Amino acid sequence: MLKFEKVFIIRMVRCYWISLFLTFSCCLGVLHASVGDADPSYRSCLNDCEITGCVGEICFPHCNFSSDGASVDGPWYMQEPLYLRWKQWDCHSDCRYHCMVNREKDRAASGYEPVKYHGKWPFKRVFGIQEPASVAFSALNLAMHFHGWLSFFILLHYKLPAKADKKPYYEYAGLWHLYALLALNSWFWSAVFHSRDVDLTERLDYFSAIALLGYSLIVAILRSFNVRLEAARVMVSAPLLAFVTTHILYLNNYKLDYGWNMKVCVAMGVAQLLIWAIWGGVSGHPSRRKLWFVIVTGALAMLLEIYDFPPYEGFVDAHAAWHATTVPLTYLWWSFIKDDAEFRTSVQLNKVK
Ligand SMILES: [Zn+2]
Repeated sequence: MLKFEKVFIIRMVRCYWISLFLTFSCCLGVLHASVGDADPSYRSCLNDCEITGCVGEICFPHCNFSSDGASVDGPWYMQEPLYLRWKQWDCHSDCRYHCMVNREKDRAASGYEPVKYHGKWPFKRVFGIQEPASVAFSALNLAMHFHGWLSFFILLHYKLPAKADKKPYYEYAGLWHLYALLALNSWFWSAVFHSRDVDLTERLDYFSAIALLGYSLIVAILRSFNVRLEAARVMVSAPLLAFVTTHILYLNNYKLDYGWNMKVCVAMGVAQLLIWAIWGGVSGHPSRRKLWFVIVTGALAMLLEIYDFPPYEGFVDAHAAWHATTVPLTYLWWSFIKDDAEFRTSVQLNKVK
């Protein structure tokens, strides 16, 4: 390879990782305070609403509680403190939503672009679902993982030859089954979180995503270093498992530190992308082009988080678009996993012969 070509490639790779890091670090800032909720007319609307329970013509039944904490109407069980807390919270959420919708209408009429409120773009709700597009794409990702997993299972148990004890030749089958379960779990909670953003759903979404990311790093290491012995697998994965568990416990019980979490996720994400990319080249895997394509497009799609654009027609924002791009990538990823199963099976059969 010519020298300037080498320099060019090194520069490209550097740019790529820097932009990837920026993508992640940009996500830190968007989580809390925003321009929209600092707006005085939005604030006064919110204050009025929490006292009167109405925004303009619309009033909310949830806001129907008196100041001494007892429910104004309804049977005794509806006066439970927990229920009341939920009701007050719901009132708060309805007020925020309708004040935001009104404020955005006024702003749009004066020709202003949408702004964020409490860290989120002004989305239109559909049947009480906060971000319908992100929910739909999360559900599609979930379906795609299920489809991939199912076809992987069929390939292993019905199409490829098996050993005498009926076990598949592919040594990494168990790892991918667990991976599929974690991915399904993660997309399920992503769909729940985007339909209703409360503290609990946010934590479940975050923690399932961290668990999936940590586990896929383990899979990347075990697969690329051909770790096949059970004892060696335990030795390699134990420290990582311990780290990921501690990280989740720290976030949940001590401090939900978005900045620190993002650093951990970037490190784990970049590490596994590099491992897969380099391994694909070094091992000369027959499906390495598919693997590289998934890695490069997957990382490029994350740039959508940098160009964090407001929701188109109130529905599809950058984050939702990002969830959309992972749907075809998931299909390709499972296709790579199936190729790997076929490849390893044929290698083993040739050894046996
Ligand atoms: Zn999401």
